[in-house]
Amino acid sequence: MRTYSPRQMAIIIAVISSLIAGIALVVFYYSIATSFILPLIFSLMLIFIVIYILVSYLLTSFIFEKINPIYKTIHNLNIPENDLKKGLEEKDIINEVNKEVETWANNKTSEIAQLKELAKYRKEFLGNVSHELKTPIFNIQGYVLTLLDGGLEDSSINRTYLEKTEKSINRMISIVQDLEDISKLESGELKLNYSNFDIIELVKEVFDDQELRAKEKDIQLKFNLNYDKAVPIYADREQVDRVLTNLIVNSINYGIEKGTTVVSFMDMGENILCEVTDNGVGIPEKELPRVFERFYRVDKSRSRNAGGTGLGLAIVKHIIEAHNQTIHVRSSVNKGTSFVFTLKKEIK
Ligand code: ADP
Repeated sequence: MRTYSPRQMAIIIAVISSLIAGIALVVFYYSIATSFILPLIFSLMLIFIVIYILVSYLLTSFIFEKINPIYKTIHNLNIPENDLKKGLEEKDIINEVNKEVETWANNKTSEIAQLKELAKYRKEFLGNVSHELKTPIFNIQGYVLTLLDGGLEDSSINRTYLEKTEKSINRMISIVQDLEDISKLESGELKLNYSNFDIIELVKEVFDDQELRAKEKDIQLKFNLNYDKAVPIYADREQVDRVLTNLIVNSINYGIEKGTTVVSFMDMGENILCEVTDNGVGIPEKELPRVFERFYRVDKSRSRNAGGTGLGLAIVKHIIEAHNQTIHVRSSVNKGTSFVFTLKKEIK
């Protein structure tokens, strides 16, 4: 239904009142005089003007009084009342406020949904963190109690229990370090230190660092080609090192005995496409969209046994996205997994 501004309403009311008064005046003048046209017109004009001013003033004040608090609330405004009144008088207030309240309500609904999502995420995150920390803490408590209960003097277990305690402490340290990194990455605290460097050289360094781990499962770490020329990229070397280390360590942890991990590169014009492929256990298709979530693990016991915190891929994704690049995963159960990401080519 069409709504009217206070000014239009005042005109309509003034016209109707003048018409009614006109009829009454015609009857009145007709009974007392013969020439009444001029006084009639004059009286009608006067009635119209008085009613118009009165109604217009009353309506504007009434509507303003009702709308002012709503308007100020939805806009969080702190503007002087007179300015607001003037602004409102110039518009079709009711329609305008109607529309603005609708937009405001829609925004609030999505804001509330977002806050609920955040609260849920926070709750889940805290639950996950305490769950992850509980296991090593209880293990340490168990070992220490056994040692105190006489185990310390028992040479067949004292050393093993201390070594197990150290392993649990190291696990806690890894979790806390990864958590610290995630929070830095999420709050944007981590500033990237860009430089040009050869990614082939970096991969070779990571291969060297992980050689022992790979040997334990007789896994071969190699390139798809014999890269005799450098593949220079522009990125934060230390962070790309962490990405490659995480992906290569995963390829070993979730790889098969005597398996292979292959690293390859492809020129994509502005970017270099990097791929880390293994022929390991693979990831079921329905789990693929979730592997980059914090604490998400396909095989929980395998991950924990390998010393995984469940945060590695979340960190990897954050780092790649901080470089404004993307990462994807392809996988087939019992065939293998490929992580593919892009990095910017060297800037000359
Ligand atoms: P984790 O510390 O458990 O390895 P990540 O965040 O690095 O945590 O990986 C999340 C999960 O994704 C792992 O627990 C594992 O189930 C799966 N995953 C990661 N990389 C591979 C891979 N190369 N092959 C098979 N599964 C993988």
